[in-house]
Amino acid sequence: MESCANHPDKKALSVCHSCGRWYCESCLDEGKEYYYCKNPDCQMLMKKEASEVVLPPRVDCPNCSSELQLSEEERKSRQFHCPDCEAFLDYSVDPPRILESKRYTKVFSTRNVGDIALLKSLLDDSEIDYYVAGEYFLATYPMVEPARFYVLDDQITRAQEVLKEFNASVRGTDTERNIPE
Ligand SMILES: [Zn+2]
Ligand SMILES: [Zn+2]
Ligand SMILES: [Zn+2]
Repeated sequence: MESCANHPDKKALSVCHSCGRWYCESCLDEGKEYYYCKNPDCQMLMKKEASEVVLPPRVDCPNCSSELQLSEEERKSRQFHCPDCEAFLDYSVDPPRILESKRYTKVFSTRNVGDIALLKSLLDDSEIDYYVAGEYFLATYPMVEPARFYVLDDQITRAQEVLKEFNASVRGTDTERNIPE
């Protein structure tokens, strides 16, 4: 039986998947599939492994079964909204959960791609929980449907502050912008 690389008097439980050395139970963390030691490089590899749950190339909405167009970001976070039925889908758990979109309220809609980017960054800065529906659709058929911003109900007040800020920064530069709803 191997002994722990840190504790020669203790029996090793397993090998670190990253550095290949033997360690005891207290020196190992259990990753998704393998054990890793506390070495920062090995810990990093463990986190990488944990985040690498790969979604299938084609993901259909479990709620309305329409095919989803996912951005790289959405694939990584594994949480996104279906643009069709607007259900909030959580694929970070297995099986995926469908969260009710009721908790979110529409606060703004726009067809302006610049508006979307600006408002997103403002909401990100304020750490507001939001999502944008119809954004990808907008890229393909700009005139059909505006992108809609939904904000978590609990954060509506803060979101309205952000919208004020947003309106102040765009006012006067473009008369064709939509009015917040
Ligand atoms: Zn290691
Ligand atoms: Zn040890
Ligand atoms: Zn759907």
